[in-house]
Amino acid sequence: MNRDYEVLIVGGGPAGLAAGLYTARARRKTLLLERGIHGGQIAITGLVENYPGFPDGIEGPELAERMLQQATKFGMEIEYAEVPTLRLEGALKVLSTDYGEYGAPVVILAGGSDHTKLGVPGEAELTGKGVSYCATCDGAFFKDQEVAVVGGGDSALDEGLFLTKFASRLTIIHRRDALRASKILQERALAHPQLRFIWDTVVEEVLGHDQVTGLRLRNLKSGLRSEFTCQGVFVYIGLRPNTGYLRGLVKLDDQGYIITDEVMETGVPGLYAAGDIRHNAARQLASAVGDGVTAAIQAERYLAELAAGVAGQKAQAPAGGH
Ligand code: NAP
Repeated sequence: MNRDYEVLIVGGGPAGLAAGLYTARARRKTLLLERGIHGGQIAITGLVENYPGFPDGIEGPELAERMLQQATKFGMEIEYAEVPTLRLEGALKVLSTDYGEYGAPVVILAGGSDHTKLGVPGEAELTGKGVSYCATCDGAFFKDQEVAVVGGGDSALDEGLFLTKFASRLTIIHRRDALRASKILQERALAHPQLRFIWDTVVEEVLGHDQVTGLRLRNLKSGLRSEFTCQGVFVYIGLRPNTGYLRGLVKLDDQGYIITDEVMETGVPGLYAAGDIRHNAARQLASAVGDGVTAAIQAERYLAELAAGVAGQKAQAPAGGH
């Protein structure tokens, strides 16, 4: 087991990168483990308009790159590996990866969340063949084609507006007749000449063999079923936390988000959670960064207490939950 590090961070989104910046600047030997691409959700987002300091906005991937550069400049290390398990050995937290085990007194869980799937026939089979969860990655494949976006939240409208650059016609399919997204996105989407909406409607099946050819829809008010012809479908119906491997170790809410106190402590001394993975998180870039910073500051205090021999005197939170 590699015990070289004082702080291990799981997840290289804004929360993890902000935490790494702070622990590295506190001169704590820090390793961040990321299973995919650094930047988390912002790495697959177009223009970010609501992060303070960028009045003209900034492209998500560029911001992700800058955050990584800033943290590594101060000494944070990054390794691209999946973390399938976490176990506790006294004060030591042990993370397993494909490349071996790492043990450290502090772990900051910042693994974010994945896109929820529709769970309908055809979706899994046609993923990558017209079904996508990433407009930034796949939008260009649908130039001059008919595309549907499923969902009514910020992601659906943000990404739907982005996709108008490529698609000839874009239809947002939402299960209610009122959008969940922020008002400014609603105004833009409702006024956009290329966007149309199908309300009160769910997708029952994604149609096609080697490629998406359409969707089978059901109107929830009338019960009527119809077929909608399209070549692409982007699914943005919410997020699901990456916490399956934490069950029994930390307290999770009904949906699997980690319950923390206001300073990101999970109840296990030295184990913190930050960003979208956390119960009641605002799920905004700026709040994820704030969570990461708070977790890092608490971690620094914990490491100082550990060195002084006074850490871990707080009551241990009950493991279990979900
Ligand atoms: P969300 O806010 O949870 O919205 C999910 C949408 O999908 C809702 O409209 C929901 O309908 C619909 N939905 C859920 N399950 C469905 C199902 N099985 N079938 C059909 N429709 C379904 O998720 P999100 O848009 O991914 O956003 C996640 C978080 O990230 C939010 O907190 C959001 O504010 C944040 N975010 C912010 C920005 C930004 O600030 N620009 C951009 C992206 C995301 P109902 O409305 O009926 O529940």
